[in-house]
Amino acid sequence: MEKSVIIIGAGFGGLAAGCYGQMNGYLTTIFEMHDKPGGLCTAWQRKGYTVDSCLHWLMGSSPGGGMSGLHPLWMELGALQGQQVVDMDRFYQIEDASGKAFTMYTDIDRLEQHMMELAPEDSRFIRQCTRAVRRLTRLSLPVDKPPEMYGPIDGLKLLFKMLPYLGDMRKWGGMTMKDLALHFKNPLLREAWQQVWIPEFSSVFILMTLATMHLKTSGYIVGGSMKLSRAIEKRYLDLGGQIKYKSRVAKILVENDRAVGVRLGDGSEFRADYVISAADGHATIFDMLDGKYVDDRIRGYYRDFPIFAPLIYVGLGVNRSFEDLPQIISGLAFPLEKPVTIAGDERKWLSVRVHNFDPTLAPAGKTLLTVMMESNFPYWETLRRDMARYRAEKDQIADTVVDLLDGRFPGLASQVEMRDVATPITFHRYTGNWQGTYEGWLMTPRIVTLNMKRTLPGLDSFYMAGQWVQPGGGLPSGAMTGRYAIQMMCKRDGKRFVATVP
Ligand SMILES: Cc1cc2nc3c(=O)[nH]c(=O)nc-3n(C[C@H](O)[C@H](O)[C@H](O)COP(=O)(O)OP(=O)(O)OC[C@H]3O[C@@H](n4cnc5c(N)ncnc54)[C@H](O)[C@@H]3O)c2cc1C
Repeated sequence: MEKSVIIIGAGFGGLAAGCYGQMNGYLTTIFEMHDKPGGLCTAWQRKGYTVDSCLHWLMGSSPGGGMSGLHPLWMELGALQGQQVVDMDRFYQIEDASGKAFTMYTDIDRLEQHMMELAPEDSRFIRQCTRAVRRLTRLSLPVDKPPEMYGPIDGLKLLFKMLPYLGDMRKWGGMTMKDLALHFKNPLLREAWQQVWIPEFSSVFILMTLATMHLKTSGYIVGGSMKLSRAIEKRYLDLGGQIKYKSRVAKILVENDRAVGVRLGDGSEFRADYVISAADGHATIFDMLDGKYVDDRIRGYYRDFPIFAPLIYVGLGVNRSFEDLPQIISGLAFPLEKPVTIAGDERKWLSVRVHNFDPTLAPAGKTLLTVMMESNFPYWETLRRDMARYRAEKDQIADTVVDLLDGRFPGLASQVEMRDVATPITFHRYTGNWQGTYEGWLMTPRIVTLNMKRTLPGLDSFYMAGQWVQPGGGLPSGAMTGRYAIQMMCKRDGKRFVATVP
């Protein structure tokens, strides 16, 4: 008889676990508290615009080198079939007060030449960076099975494969983005490399990302986040899976240290042979399981490891085409004439993403703009206790952002016809992610090589998937860990794991 699996959460981790579960003959049901799939990979409609809240680039969007192992997973999940992928020339652009611009091109030769022209004084370090990116284009990290299933021969093969890159891993993996940026003497390059990614992030990941962009294997999917989420939801439903929306799991039912089902917020109970939680890690471990299945290692993660700071996410619908502006994956940053305080933090720069690469997000001739700003959860938690103040703060932020953007794009203020502000509270309310984070654990040099386990000590028939068991998070972490959970389940049941492509 087929075994049953309950999956908590229809984000990428949960949907992937569901798809691979169905492919392998398990009867799966996903319980999702929201009324739509995707979790953090989402979008919302406002006044004819689609505020897209996730997708910048999808690693593995095309076959080829550099993390190319991910591409087959997206095909198995039905994420890419029939999609239009855009590979942009520019990753990021930053301007200084004099209007001089540095563009982080995705073509590594062009990027090298541009940096050399801008900062001949940094030529040695520029070459070190670009050489590393070129080397990393040949790296293909294995994602075919979970580290838990690696035997000694797999380990040796991996070591052999990684040998040419061990130097890069050691050098750049141990260096934060801030450390890397401080190697540049040129002030604009220094600022740019610090701002392009989170300063505490391990720098090897930006170099790897640039390698995949150079190879055009980290593209943008036209239609954005929800289109991608709906594609995987469709694959899951086509495979015979079931999703129960508006179904918040309150507790994971445990009998004799074995997960046997879930209890929803309304008190109803559902039982299964296995439970996979692809919901927030902290809530899973400390609330749904009452903190009964942890050890010092896991307690240490949640006590000591930094997470991606939560976001204030401003969406603007602008009656302007922005045809004259090049398409830039991550956005355009510019310095403010004088610092402004937003949500209690002083800001000297503003970075805006002009979604002129995706006409589906706005009515014809108009454009969606988004501004992502890191913020802090306690500030918003306090504010939320007084709804009038909370709303006033959101309005104030929209006013400030429009005003600042009008300085860079004169006339913009009068063209804004939609304003929307999401806060760390919004992200927390809609996805349950701890402290409102949008990507889980920050990949700092300290945890670059850390392998988080996908099970909990002492708890049988239970697995975890999603960004809380894969430092660095992101959409690939969902696809990989959902697959890993089912691979581990198949191994336990003595079944050969299979994956199919629709
Ligand atoms: C602004 C932004 C930009 C991003 N850019 C990129 C990018 O360019 N590329 C990239 O790869 N990644 C990006 N990410 C990160 C990426 O979206 C996430 O890392 C990824 O979607 C996490 O997937 P997940 O399945 O682990 O978790 P989630 O998406 O958080 O899914 C968890 C699901 O569980 C549900 N849930 C939680 N608690 C319960 C409960 N008790 N009962 C039932 N259901 C529950 C939630 O509603 C949610 O649907 C971005 C994210 C944001 C917000």
